[in-house]
Amino acid sequence: MQTFKKSLSKNGGTFFVLGIDAATWTIITPNLSELTNFKRLTEIGKSKTITLKEKPISASVWCGMFSGKLLEEHKHESYVVNGEIVKREDIKVDFIWDVLEREGKKVRALNVPFVVPPYSFGVNFKPIGFGLPTNEKEWEEELERVTEKTKELLAEKPDLLISVYNCLDRIQHFHWGEDYVVEWYKRMDEKIGELIFDTGFLEEDENNKLIVISDHGFCSFGEAKMQTLPEHTPEGKLKGDPHENALLITVNVDYEIERPQDVFYAINFFASKKK
Ligand SMILES: [Zn+2]
Repeated sequence: MQTFKKSLSKNGGTFFVLGIDAATWTIITPNLSELTNFKRLTEIGKSKTITLKEKPISASVWCGMFSGKLLEEHKHESYVVNGEIVKREDIKVDFIWDVLEREGKKVRALNVPFVVPPYSFGVNFKPIGFGLPTNEKEWEEELERVTEKTKELLAEKPDLLISVYNCLDRIQHFHWGEDYVVEWYKRMDEKIGELIFDTGFLEEDENNKLIVISDHGFCSFGEAKMQTLPEHTPEGKLKGDPHENALLITVNVDYEIERPQDVFYAINFFASKKK
């Protein structure tokens, strides 16, 4: 039956990139026995750490990941410049969704936080908390709504789907070092199970490809090589800050990813093979 299903692949499969802002092995590895879906992914896929050579700034790393460009090229480092919110149009690059759509591919991108509010492509989606969810209610809402929308989009079998969860970054800024953070990884783990395993994504088409990736890791506020936010913010004192070690898990992606920018090239590589 499985073989028969696989042979029904019509479009050459979906490339699914699941972004989890600030997800880190520092939390996942010691808790793997409880994070059963992460564990399953590490067993069936390849996992590694991407050590950023660039600054671990969400806006800049996500921008580079989906444009293939280095900061010197895309020049986008901050959500706000000179008191103005930077918009998609202000960033003079083509993203992977622009490139593939021109080639007639079906592309969807959901809640990608290289700008605020996070950017969506080919999808109507209202970001939670202007993309900077600040309290538990907003974190829960983001987790639920991104999961539900992503399931809908996966069912449409696009050539490329990119979805990003933002809440862990915010949770870790305020709660790093607390058990509360691990509780949120468990919630995230459940949703990953729903998206990747309950949908049968990895079994329904042998051409389906998966990347789970973060833009940076996390560490205690004082241990960060570079502090990206002031310690005292209007929302409270910060306990954690981005770390240069980001997370990567790939399944069925036979392409070496060493830097965030390589995600762009990996997607493009496989897209160009499926005319
Ligand atoms: Zn981030």
